[in-house]
Amino acid sequence: MTETTTSNTYDQWLESLSESGYRVTAPRRAIVEIMANSPCALGPLEIYDQGRQEYRGLGLVTVYRTLEKLEELGLVQRVHHPQGCHMYLRAAHGHEHLVLCTACGKAEYFSGDDISKLINAVAEKTGFEIREHWLQLFGLCSACKNN
Ligand SMILES: [Zn+2]
Ligand SMILES: [Zn+2]
Repeated sequence: MTETTTSNTYDQWLESLSESGYRVTAPRRAIVEIMANSPCALGPLEIYDQGRQEYRGLGLVTVYRTLEKLEELGLVQRVHHPQGCHMYLRAAHGHEHLVLCTACGKAEYFSGDDISKLINAVAEKTGFEIREHWLQLFGLCSACKNN
């Protein structure tokens, strides 16, 4: 995975948003900044809390609407968390898989899977033509593992 600097991501997101005709107000900007820079998958309430440190007048509805817009533009994606509802994370660059820390939410994308054998076996067994897959692993990140 190529490492893009975080400020770079942030600038690109602002650009995508304004290109799509979206007005990037101060509260929305706070959310974009959090999501572009966060190494962790975040729930809407966490984003709200962090965002209010940046912009005190931030409302929860703005959080949801901005996340919706970022998702629509393919900049963030929903991530499944075993403890329930959805969390949000910056989107993968192309086809990548995800590993998520269940303790702190830290998430990393990885590529180079070798699951084609499994996919072929499933296709054979079920008669399906497999077209897509979504792979997400859960565990403890190196920091949480040692706690
Ligand atoms: Zn962790
Ligand atoms: Zn894959």
